[in-house]
Amino acid sequence: FQFIGPTPESIRIMGDKVSAKQAMIKAGVPCVPGSDGELPDDPVQIRRIAKAVGYPVIIKAAGGGGGRGMRVVHTEAALVNAVQMTKAEAAAAFGNPAVYMEKYLQNPRHIEIQVLADKFKNAVYLGERDCSMQRRHQKVIEEAPAPGIPRRLIERIGERCVAACKKIGYRGAGTFEFLFENGEFYFIEMNTRVQVEHPVTEMISGVDIVKTQIMVAADEKLPFTQRQIELRGHAIECRINAEDAYKFTPSPGRITTWHAPGGPGVRVDSHIYTNYFVPPNYDSMIGKLIVHGDTREQALARMRTALLETVVEGINTNIPLHKDLMVDAKFMEGGTNIHYLEEWLQLRNPKR
Ligand code: ADP
Repeated sequence: FQFIGPTPESIRIMGDKVSAKQAMIKAGVPCVPGSDGELPDDPVQIRRIAKAVGYPVIIKAAGGGGGRGMRVVHTEAALVNAVQMTKAEAAAAFGNPAVYMEKYLQNPRHIEIQVLADKFKNAVYLGERDCSMQRRHQKVIEEAPAPGIPRRLIERIGERCVAACKKIGYRGAGTFEFLFENGEFYFIEMNTRVQVEHPVTEMISGVDIVKTQIMVAADEKLPFTQRQIELRGHAIECRINAEDAYKFTPSPGRITTWHAPGGPGVRVDSHIYTNYFVPPNYDSMIGKLIVHGDTREQALARMRTALLETVVEGINTNIPLHKDLMVDAKFMEGGTNIHYLEEWLQLRNPKR
């Protein structure tokens, strides 16, 4: 048995959000203002911290993930109760009651940096991804590069991430997640693994992230330097979920027809096939549709065609939602923030 993945030491440092943030502050990565580590139990102290951070604040579980274990608090009156509830939920869901506090940023975008590092302290970043299209803090569409963000800002934050990897002795694939508001990056967490959205980076960089992760885990050297990384064109990923496109009720069951799209710049990552049974017990994601184009416009056009070509029968999927978003004027413009999708859904169906 050979251990594949980040070193136990970097998992210890980055594995929970509170220690990750503390490590990033030390490594000079800009973070969202908030509590200095885990929140204490004393209500007086909790109120004092929130006052210093400034409302609204967000209470987050140190061991949280997948958009769960977070609560936004707008007033002091609601604070202590919200902390207690988040703690109880975190203990039940993640086996760790620790929570911390951050300033709740009002209109940020979610921008993240992909890194790869080997055990010889070589590290590179493969540009950024924009994952702002979210519902309930969960990503729905991801793209690379992030529309409208100047390259020099990306380069500056990418270099910070690489320096942080070297400083903590990180090995493997990893992602530094940031909120981006008014031209500033604020670190929120590190994902010490390959993520759902990694294909958009593979499409613009030509780097096989999974293969490289295994190579560096097997003690090999990174096969390229930062200067050899060249990003080309634009990539978009739609997460295909087995759920009603607008009600979001899960739709498990047997897939009676599955037809995948194709053509230049189209990639499908999925395990499904005709007659596959989507079990009700797990996450509803059944596949990912990824496209690449020379420009964002071309990628959008390819995604529209690919969505039209895709056939899934027997269950409901969110493909109709993606089709509508790919022709939405604001999304087509680029640069929408983390609330855009929820607001868009609300406008379409205010009763929801
Ligand atoms: P998870 O590990 O569950 O994905 P994250 O810390 O990555 O949790 O946060 C997920 C999403 O929650 C972010 O992309 C953003 O939409 C929202 N979020 C998290 N922290 C803040 C914050 N301080 N201000 C505003 N939104 C936030």
